Formats: sequence, structure tokens, C-alpha cells
Amino acid sequence: MSNIGFIGLGIMGNPMCRNLLKAGHKVVVYDVVPALIDRVTEYGASRGGSSREVAEQSDIVITMLPDGPEVEQAIHGPGGVFEGARPGSTVIDMSSISPLVAQNVGAACAAKGLRFLDAPVSGGEPKAIEGSLAIMVGGDEAVFHEMAPVLQAMGSSVTLTGPVGAGNVTKLANQIVVACNIAAMGEALVLATRAGLDPNVVFNAIKGGLAGSTVLNAKAPMVIARNFKPGFRIRLHQKDLRNALLAADSMKVGLPLTSTVQQMLMTLMNQGKGDLDHSAIVMFIEEMAGIEVKAPPAATEKP
Ligand code: NAD
Repeated sequence: MSNIGFIGLGIMGNPMCRNLLKAGHKVVVYDVVPALIDRVTEYGASRGGSSREVAEQSDIVITMLPDGPEVEQAIHGPGGVFEGARPGSTVIDMSSISPLVAQNVGAACAAKGLRFLDAPVSGGEPKAIEGSLAIMVGGDEAVFHEMAPVLQAMGSSVTLTGPVGAGNVTKLANQIVVACNIAAMGEALVLATRAGLDPNVVFNAIKGGLAGSTVLNAKAPMVIARNFKPGFRIRLHQKDLRNALLAADSMKVGLPLTSTVQQMLMTLMNQGKGDLDHSAIVMFIEEMAGIEVKAPPAATEKP
């Protein structure tokens, strides 16, 4: 069992910490919001006063923060991990950040004698609670194998995909597939509704064929029920696609579909919809068509 420090106790960090505690690890935690620390100390974690204090008491420090700037601040900002960590300790960043930032943080850790993995996750809050996240890891193979049991306390699939930064490249690939799928689903359901069809019937007709997907099964019912409670927020997905475009630009790769969906997400954020579930991408397409996806009156009227 390990002495683990955990920084960032939001939607994902809280249940991930609980699963580390359940697996028998000793966990010391920190978040800039004190009330979020209270919620995890109730389950047996001990309280750290800063990222530095967390690092002083840990052999492994895990961060689960919104984006790269927060990760850099927690690791090498004032009162950060670098001020408290002992050489030979391991830092695992599980946030979804730019692969370029992950590589910079990895190099800074190496210069301090610390080991580093980038290990973002997929699966959202339900899988974080179940401990069945998909965890995609970048870093040194020996460090990966040593840390795998710790990661397995939070995830059911833990995969090394390459050197530092590869975890986040893999996560961006995941986010591109999900975002473009949701946008395509939105166009399909708007077209079907405008044609006078029941979108639920269309969904059921296509879900078993080649168009079927986990995304379609999860998100089409939400759109048809007009349930946009997150889930995964528009603003976080916009951040991921922005990071994908920045990484692609640095490698001279064009991502035309990702770029279009990123613009849709930014427009929705500017309309005050940043905290809706990402299935609300359909609203962008609905506005262009002047129509809302819903069953036609005949399908909802009682005989
Ligand atoms: P969140 O906003 O709920 O949690 C982030 C936490 O970090 C907050 O509690 C915040 O107070 C804390 N924080 C911010 N700056 C800090 C600092 N400098 N020091 C200490 N604490 C700080 O976000 P989340 O939904 O838990 O997501 C975390 C990461 O996981 C993001 O990168 C997100 O893209 C990714 N992710 C989220 C989901 C999801 O469904 N929510 C799924 C997969 C991946």
C-alpha cells in the first residue's frame, strides 16, 4: 500500500480518491476549495494545507485538475508539489491537458529528480464512482508497471500508449471521436425531425447498424428527452478540442471536423450553455434549422 497525495477533488477527483482509500492506500488530499476537502476527509483521507504539504507526506502525487495552467500551478507554482516532493517520488497527472504541457511538466519533474506519468481518463463520473475508468498512460514503461496497481484501483482498463504526452494524445483522439459523433447525431436527428419523423423511431432503426455507437446510445435518448444535465460539460469538451487543435497545429496536421465542432462548442459557451451536457451540441444545429428535435404530435398524443 502506498502513501498517496491527491490534488483536485472535483466531480472526478472525489470518487477517484474514495476508490484509492477503499483499496487500502493512505491518502492525503488538497483542493483550493476547502469544502471539497471536508467531503473526502469524511471517508478517511487526511487533510493537506497545500500542494506542497501533500507532496511532503507522499511517495506518489496524483493531480486531477481542470486544465494545463492549473496543473502547472499545482506542480511548480508557489506552495506547489516541487517545494515538498522528495527525489524519487512519482507525479501522475490524470487531468485532460495539452500533450505539449504534459511533456513540459514531465521534463520539469525529471530535472527535479521526480518521475512523471500523464494518465488522463475516460468514462465520466459514473465510471469514476464504480472504479471502472479507462486510463490511458504516457511515460516510462518501468514506472508504468510500478504504478499500474495504483491506477487499477480507479480504472478497469489501464493502457500504456507511449512516452510522456502519449496519454493525452490518446485522450484527445477519444474526445475528437466523441465530439464529432455527437455533432453528426445532432444533424441526423434535426433532419429526421424536419422530415416529420419521430426521432426516437429513427434512433431505434439505426442503432443496430453501422451508425450505432456507445455515443449514440448514451446521447440520443438525452436529446430526445431534452435532458441536458451534465455528464460532461460543453466548456470542458471545448477545452479538449482546443488542446487537440493546438497539438495538431504544432505537428502540421489539419483537423477540419474537430475545428468545426470546436467553433460550435465555443458559440454555445458564448450563449451561456457552457455548463450543459455536451449532447447540447444539437442546439447549435437546431438553431440553424429553426426546429427542435422532438417526437411529432401524432407520436405523443394519446388515442
Ligand atoms: P472539476 O472542475 O469538477 O474539478 C477540478 C477541481 O480542481 C476543482 O475542485 C477545483 O477547485 C480544483 N482546483 C483547481 N485549481 C486548483 C489548484 N491550483 N490546486 C488545487 N485544486 C485546484 O473538474 P472534473 O470534472 O473533476 O474534471 C477534472 C479533469 O478530468 C478535467 O481535465 C476534465 O477534462 C477531465 N475529465 C472529466 C470528466 C467528467 O465527466 N467530468 C471525464 C473525463 C475526464
